[in-house]
Amino acid sequence: MLVSAKEMLIKAREGKYAIGHFNINNLEWAKAVLLTAKETNSPVILGVSEGAGKYMGGYKTVVAMVTALIEDLSINVPVALHLDHGSYEGALKTIEAGFSSVMFDGSHYSIEKTKEIIRIAREKGISIEAEVGSIGGEEDGVIGAGEVADPSECKLIAELGVDMLAAGIGNIHGKYPANWKGLDFEALTAIKKATGDVPLVLHGGTGIPEDMIKRAISLGVAKINVNTECQLSFAAATRKYIEAGKDLESKGFDPRKLLAPGFEAIKATVKEKIELFGSANKA
Ligand SMILES: [Zn+2]
Repeated sequence: MLVSAKEMLIKAREGKYAIGHFNINNLEWAKAVLLTAKETNSPVILGVSEGAGKYMGGYKTVVAMVTALIEDLSINVPVALHLDHGSYEGALKTIEAGFSSVMFDGSHYSIEKTKEIIRIAREKGISIEAEVGSIGGEEDGVIGAGEVADPSECKLIAELGVDMLAAGIGNIHGKYPANWKGLDFEALTAIKKATGDVPLVLHGGTGIPEDMIKRAISLGVAKINVNTECQLSFAAATRKYIEAGKDLESKGFDPRKLLAPGFEAIKATVKEKIELFGSANKA
């Protein structure tokens, strides 16, 4: 059964660790993340962007696949299925389809739309993440300029009653450029002060140095989004398999063999992140 992310995030904030949010793209991704969460005894959030939802066939397919995997693989840790960077229509559709958590970026809409999504989520017991400002880099064709959120704006959105708040602190989606200045801890401290107990979310978890991750968690970050890093691990392992000519040996072209190294690579990346974030054995 899927659960709201609310409770796991409150526990994480109080226990000074963070829950990993791992974006999924297909069955291999979902299975790899779920099995690793089970093996490390960690709560987990499966993130689905609107593009990934469409790719997998639609939100109902995603819900059916994830809930069936939880049952068939006896996944006994808390799992939230979360819409990542949702539009108004996407939020309504995923709630309808059975997601247990949504992120709504209300910046392109009137504040009434954010209030409406919060009200619907409350009624259904679904957790809601709001984004203040934009996160830099590119995700599903959405390009943000890379910015630091305004603490007073964060306070305003937090007070609407969201369960988690994503605020830019110099983090970006995708690979970090060589001249990246690092996370802005002064901004994070100011945002934390302005927003009180609302768990904070760090997007763009790929490639942030470990010491910065740990410091961010100590300052109130309770959810960290990882997407690109699993994609890079999967691609590198698959490339190695093909370049070694393994697909040409015996039945090496069988997708169950061809996709196995990438699957194991996703598992290794997820395990590394769960250990770094401190959520192992917190299920
Ligand atoms: Zn993001």
